[in-house]
Amino acid sequence: MPRLTHEEILLWLRETEPTALEQLFARADAVRHAFVGDAVHLRGLIEISSYCVRQCHYCGLRMARSIPRYRMAREEILACARTAVRLGFGTVVLQAGEDYGIEAAWLADVLRAIKEETPLAITLSLGERMPHELRLWREAGADRYLLRFETSDPALYAAIHPRRGAAVSDRIALLGELRSMGYEIGGGVMVGIPGQTYEMLAHDIELFEQLDLDMIGIGPFLAHPDTPLGVPGVPTAGAEQVPSSEWMTLKAVALARLACPEANLPSTTALATINSVDGREHGLQSGANVFMPILTPAPYRQMYQIYPGRTCNEEDAIRCNACLRGRIGRLGRTVGEGPGGRSARRGEADPLPCDAGHAADAAAVKR
Ligand code: SAM
Ligand code: SF4
Repeated sequence: MPRLTHEEILLWLRETEPTALEQLFARADAVRHAFVGDAVHLRGLIEISSYCVRQCHYCGLRMARSIPRYRMAREEILACARTAVRLGFGTVVLQAGEDYGIEAAWLADVLRAIKEETPLAITLSLGERMPHELRLWREAGADRYLLRFETSDPALYAAIHPRRGAAVSDRIALLGELRSMGYEIGGGVMVGIPGQTYEMLAHDIELFEQLDLDMIGIGPFLAHPDTPLGVPGVPTAGAEQVPSSEWMTLKAVALARLACPEANLPSTTALATINSVDGREHGLQSGANVFMPILTPAPYRQMYQIYPGRTCNEEDAIRCNACLRGRIGRLGRTVGEGPGGRSARRGEADPLPCDAGHAADAAAVKR
């Protein structure tokens, strides 16, 4: 039995009444508290390369753009990992475009060095790499893999992800392979991609539960003017088009928490970009339990422009860390210690509330 029915999810996604939505956010916050606690985990984001062979219609790193690109050196990545340890983070996330210049054996060596030198958990987010490469990195110490499936709708997926030669892009199948390799797996979507309907977004949230995701990244679609989906007049789903607003994103975050109570859910930088005042806090109050501060060295950040105007892009890691800790403290939450993965939490923590208890929570969400 799914925790939320399709109709319930759809009703909530269409809800616009603020007082009703406050109930949804409060319910998600309570489930977050019960299942993953009050700790907010800090995952240091290191954007190790801006090269990409893909042409995703929404992304500023797509190959067709002739922009300055970079690939970080081993020592630069290790220096960022050391900064993560100094700042008290438990995890680093190594993210990049799908860059085959990141050679598998080279990265495996970097992963081993991070593991030998630090207690950090390592999350990779490097696109659709080959199974033998993903296996090698897992053996070298990578713990988790983030691969948003972007939309569960095959037609929309195909329309915005041009094929790369004869290769079939099936991120949902790849998530299954990653799990079988022993990774904790993370998926997710953008909210408000042109062409995304309420029905589609409801299916996305159902798929989070079916895949039993360990991590779920949800952020608003932010138009990049130099991409096919960022130009004026791009076709949308008309009256059924999901807006790429803060409220719609918060609804999706809250519903993801109710569907997947144990998952780690970031309050994303994209959410903080559409509301730089308190978007991050709203995410944490709607079911999220993770922040991903950026550790990428300053000169490279300007070149890693997925979308324009990313918040806090000029902040150095020390100030960013202090700011985020302040925000967490002011909400009465604590900063998580250690790797903070889902499986570690299951092993270490008190037994989690049983599913039956959660079924009651989910039932209470019905209106
Ligand atoms: N290349 C890897 C991949 O595609 O999984 C990792 C890097 S990619 C830039 C990380 C995520 O950025 C994507 O999964 C997508 O959801 C998000 N993203 C890309 N363009 C975006 C945009 N215009 N607005 C919001 N999020 C965007
Ligand atoms: Fe490349 Fe990832 Fe951007 Fe697609 S979303 S163009 S794979 S960096």
